[in-house]
Amino acid sequence: MARYIFITGGVVSSLGKGLASAALGAALQARGYSVRLRKLDPYLNVDPGTMSPYQHGECFVTDDGAETDLDLGHYERFTGRPCNKRDNITTGRIYQDILTKERRGDYLGGTVQVIPHVTDEIKNFVLDGNDEYDFVLCEIGGTVGDIEALPFFEAIRQLGNELPRGHAIYIHLTLMPYIPSAGELKTKPTQHSVKELRSIGIAPDILLVRCDRPIPEGERRKLSLFCNVRESAVIQALDVKTIYEVPLAYHHEGLDNEVLNAFGIEDRNEPDLSQWEQIVETIKNPEGEVTIAVVGKYTSLLDAYKSLIEALTHGGIANRVKVNLEWIESEVFEQEDPTPYLSHVHGILVPGGFGERGAAGKIEAVRFARERNVPYFGICFGMQMAVVEAARNLAGIEKASSTEFGPTEEPIVGLMTEWVQGNERQVRLADGDMGGTMRLGAYPASLSAGSRIADVYGSTSISERHRHRYEVNASYRDRLEEAGMRFAGTSPDGFLPETVEYPDHPWFIGVQYHPELKSRPFEPHPLFSSFIAAAVEQSRLV
Ligand code: GLN
Repeated sequence: MARYIFITGGVVSSLGKGLASAALGAALQARGYSVRLRKLDPYLNVDPGTMSPYQHGECFVTDDGAETDLDLGHYERFTGRPCNKRDNITTGRIYQDILTKERRGDYLGGTVQVIPHVTDEIKNFVLDGNDEYDFVLCEIGGTVGDIEALPFFEAIRQLGNELPRGHAIYIHLTLMPYIPSAGELKTKPTQHSVKELRSIGIAPDILLVRCDRPIPEGERRKLSLFCNVRESAVIQALDVKTIYEVPLAYHHEGLDNEVLNAFGIEDRNEPDLSQWEQIVETIKNPEGEVTIAVVGKYTSLLDAYKSLIEALTHGGIANRVKVNLEWIESEVFEQEDPTPYLSHVHGILVPGGFGERGAAGKIEAVRFARERNVPYFGICFGMQMAVVEAARNLAGIEKASSTEFGPTEEPIVGLMTEWVQGNERQVRLADGDMGGTMRLGAYPASLSAGSRIADVYGSTSISERHRHRYEVNASYRDRLEEAGMRFAGTSPDGFLPETVEYPDHPWFIGVQYHPELKSRPFEPHPLFSSFIAAAVEQSRLV
């Protein structure tokens, strides 16, 4: 039977609970255990798909088409296990299910309440489908003390009693702030946070304490005493240079040992963390560096591009170079000449995006890359804009546009209302719901033999994750191909353009899907490896 590790957060948000959970998962895997990571999100949205990237960061998409919290990206990158729909739940989803049952009459006239109905629903979610795993790590979003998180804390408290003894532990992640005037790391916020947790019936087994310098012995003892946690279970989580060092750092501080101890598991085997050591060694000792301009819209909140940033780092690992990113608000290019911003960069990337604002600037970035032979990588919206650019500037279709920006005579990119997924026809209406209705999740694509992209993948059939509502309009294909753009990848039935490229450009590829979602530090995505390799070439020229 699976053992459960519940991970809660205290003191402040943004302490990196997702990363902590993922890194602990990786450390347990390195000891030969199988792990599953899941996220319980207390907010009322049914999923993060409708939330602004400014507020909530990237929306991570799974193979089975769930729009999930970005922490699931960390889980996948650290454990290699692809997440699915059943790995992320929100209060909104739980209430949606409960209210559907209530309307159906499933509660047989009973009063529907937070305890037991909501908590039961949460427990069922937590316990479901874990048979093949040694450890299930459940991260609770938010911070202890949040009103909306209470049902989740109550549910995991109940599970502590309902699971067999030794099958559930609680890890609480907190912060010890350094107060310069006192010259000390302070324990009080952690004490308060644990007090809050204990007041709702949860006694943490392990404290994982974020700090920017080592915790002195006395402070550690104090935390142990006041928080009622064994001294050895007060684990310092010092800041590290790269996130991929976290599994190593945690192991060094004894976290995985402490977790096994808390479960009463005797395991004296040393974990095999060699792949993490290698990755960290490569990141810390680059043999060169390249600069990539990312021309996007949400550049003020980098969480909006979490997976993209990681995938670019992975491309750097594959080429043993440091990848410097320059973030450029695309709107700038609507007023200013892009040359001073782009002439020194070794690659230009236009990532996924939504809406018209900034689109014209992205098109300028595409044009610069195409005309100046700078490696270009267009992802989703970045491919759509590359096609619009080609239509306008190469094929002479001046009014070329996307219907995302309003009605147009030349819908080079159009709203997709029908497509095939597996054996099912998917139909969407222009005025339908916004949530969960995009083309989402893994779809196969066929790549033309001899194309650059087929060469990059080393294969002509691939599967990648999608998240978009609009699609390049295949009826313009012939005109665009005459103008020099090659539609190298399509859906297997040939109807939906999936990738474009210019055969006579050093490296220009646009993809309708999101390859960044499947890149791993120990298995960099081929497109990112190849793009960074092209940037390395470019750096020899500029
Ligand atoms: N806005 C575009 C669409 O919906 C692109 C989406 C994206 O880049 N993920 O098709």
